[in-house]
Amino acid sequence: MFDINNILRENIKKLVPYSSARDEFQGEASVYLDANENAFGSPLDTNYNRYPDPLQYAVKLRLSEIKGVPARNIFLGNGSDEAIDILFRSFCNPGVDNVIIVPPTYGMYEVSANINDVALKRVPLTAEYQLDLDGIAEAIDKHTKMIFICSPNNPTGNSINRADVETLLANFKGLVVVDEAYINFSRQKTFIQELTEYANLVVLQTLSKAWGLAGLRVGMAFASEEIIEVMNKVKPPYNINEASQQLALEALQNVDQVNAWIKETLAQRDKLVLALRNFDFVLDIYPSDANFILVKTTDAKGIYNYLVSHGIIVRDRSKVTLCEGALRITIGTPQENETLIETLKTFK
Ligand SMILES: *Cc1c(COP(=O)(O)O)cnc(C)c1O
Repeated sequence: MFDINNILRENIKKLVPYSSARDEFQGEASVYLDANENAFGSPLDTNYNRYPDPLQYAVKLRLSEIKGVPARNIFLGNGSDEAIDILFRSFCNPGVDNVIIVPPTYGMYEVSANINDVALKRVPLTAEYQLDLDGIAEAIDKHTKMIFICSPNNPTGNSINRADVETLLANFKGLVVVDEAYINFSRQKTFIQELTEYANLVVLQTLSKAWGLAGLRVGMAFASEEIIEVMNKVKPPYNINEASQQLALEALQNVDQVNAWIKETLAQRDKLVLALRNFDFVLDIYPSDANFILVKTTDAKGIYNYLVSHGIIVRDRSKVTLCEGALRITIGTPQENETLIETLKTFK
């Protein structure tokens, strides 16, 4: 059985969180003289002189409607990158504990581990970009606190077999973090619905990709109430600024617009794949459940540099484990994708 007390750091168990002015008084008043704010306003058209809601209740309420999960199971971070860092700081003792990652995968798990002085165990994906469950089982020791699974996976684009993730959830005594940054583009269903089933599950999502709000920095973690409480205790008191909260709330009313873009992105993805297949230098295009494709080429560096010289930037992933010769290409607007294809026609 999973017990959060077996994995929580002792200092975090005992931590008394910072209590802000807005924590100590909640409700409506006519005069606020409790937070040393500038009572006159801001030198802007909009006033931002008041501190934002530390727990972002209005945004969570709207997310709760969209995602079908209670607000108390939602954590908001300054990007999901902040949620990743807070998980490390809450559960991993520097210099003692370790986490498992399954490369090729998203780079921030490793960076966050390094910042927090937490050892990494790498269990590469199989040749089909799926989990090596035996390898993971062997890598787990008594100091393993988290396993990071990105699905759909960045940079490969494929989804990880659901049954394999469930095997980990059922057997691992630490946290299984399922990063669903690209779930909106996927045919697979989210793991959010499994929260009631698995107490050790953390699902990450973000407003940075399908929602088109990368500049606002709003990421989400969905987990049990006890995990969310720990994360709220550890986070900086006002981690999502007022402008981001207001704009995120406004954007979250426009579900239809986002769904229309997702549909268009998927249609463009199919079209781009067909067009890319015609080039001799394209060896393989991996099936994608995301808004990008991983393309194996004969000359990643050469194509990358050629595109840069024409003002087109893709991601060279050819130095990454199991991605030899590969470029990662984000799906753009129809016009951008057309420009890419036309430019590639003159390569070499
Ligand atoms: C882009 C990305 C994120 C980053 O999300 P932010 O909310 O912008 O911090 C997280 N995970 C994966 C796999 C990503 O590709």
